[in-house]
Amino acid sequence: MLTVDAALDAHLEATREARLDSYKAFLRIPSISAIPAHAGDCRAAAAWLAGALSEAGLEHAEVLETGGHPVVYADWLHAPDAPTVLIYGHYDVQPVDPLDLWTSPPFEPVVVGDRMLARGAADDKGQIHAHVMAAAAMLATRGRFPINVKYIFEGEEESSSVHLDAWLTAERDRLRADVAIISDSGFFEGNLPAITLSLRGIMYAQIDVIGTAVDLHSGVYGGAVQNPANALAQIIAALKGPDGRVRIPGFYDDVVPLTEADRFALANLPFDDATYQENLGVPALVGEVGYTTLERRGTRPTLDVNGMWAGFQGEGAKTIIPAHAHAKVSCRLVAGQEPDRIFEAFRDYVDAIAPPGVTTRVELIGGGFPSLTPMDHPATQAAARALEATFGRAPVYIREGGSIPVCASFSTILGLPVILLGITPPDENAHAPNEWMDLGNYETGIRTFARMLDELIDLPR
Ligand SMILES: [Zn+2]
Repeated sequence: MLTVDAALDAHLEATREARLDSYKAFLRIPSISAIPAHAGDCRAAAAWLAGALSEAGLEHAEVLETGGHPVVYADWLHAPDAPTVLIYGHYDVQPVDPLDLWTSPPFEPVVVGDRMLARGAADDKGQIHAHVMAAAAMLATRGRFPINVKYIFEGEEESSSVHLDAWLTAERDRLRADVAIISDSGFFEGNLPAITLSLRGIMYAQIDVIGTAVDLHSGVYGGAVQNPANALAQIIAALKGPDGRVRIPGFYDDVVPLTEADRFALANLPFDDATYQENLGVPALVGEVGYTTLERRGTRPTLDVNGMWAGFQGEGAKTIIPAHAHAKVSCRLVAGQEPDRIFEAFRDYVDAIAPPGVTTRVELIGGGFPSLTPMDHPATQAAARALEATFGRAPVYIREGGSIPVCASFSTILGLPVILLGITPPDENAHAPNEWMDLGNYETGIRTFARMLDELIDLPR
């Protein structure tokens, strides 16, 4: 940890014990959003957090209704010509099963060595708490923030954020800002500071191939009619080429291409194909030609069959031509691609390639937008400077293959660039037994979050 603000450091040194007690008090509330019996605990965690935000000196600290578990809001808006940042985290946690694998009870936080051990210690109560403590330290030592700040901490992230989009839409005015910071991600391998530049979106669909009303005898009818299972296999085989490219016309049209700098950053990550392959236990790594494994996984769209079923699946033989066949297919999407447009292209292509003698039906099951804030975005660079100033190491830039739906919501509903700035170690057992937070990361992270507010002062508005 480096000294970047002597007064802030001195304040944080003097208040360390009280801060750890407060962190533990927050972790003691079993705010498991997925389990209805814990709804009261989620409310208690929200109320606790609103209290902590007020105590830190923030204004308008409120518990706001969403129709589900509430959102906690607070702000400080006294920097009239400066940018405004919206800081997001979630106070709900994952269930704790299997309980017998925990070395201490999940809601009785303990410090073991340099780790805080409890459910939520990292994901995401630890990161929220670090933000609140950064705010408290800044207001205690300077009496003000360099920029305007708004905090929203939701209680349903571990339950698909079901009420969040409607709430964000309804509260659009209150949430006006110039940039959003999401602190719900972590460092790269070996506790290397990292900024996640992008997340993939998704298009999820089902294909139904219908032949006859009932299964047919394959001896009596075989050879004279189309077999829906064979037809489905033909359709699926035609979706991708041997080069790993998706054959749907227009599929790649809107993909934002990688820059040389993007490719260079990915190529320099400490990542090794052979180890990755060995850990997976697969005989070879495959994917789209012309791209590395990290590029395929984080920056390129995909098409995968997630499930397929048709006909007889019991023991022994049953000689039928199945009446129908089905597949669930999803595409991970990257910046530029829109789930609805990809679905339409997918549906039209399936209709076009379906063999004769069957009817096909393609239905959309769900979709989510990808998100990307480029490496050279001023807010990304502000985050990089904040990490380097406090952790003493320049961050690496990573691309996640999965999704954090709230990320896309912030860009599509609120129109904000999103910076994923997290401080948790990469192996913190989030969602697993014995979740932990490195207390060094937590303490340094408080300085990082404070420094980030200083660094955002020059953000173009
Ligand atoms: Zn989380």
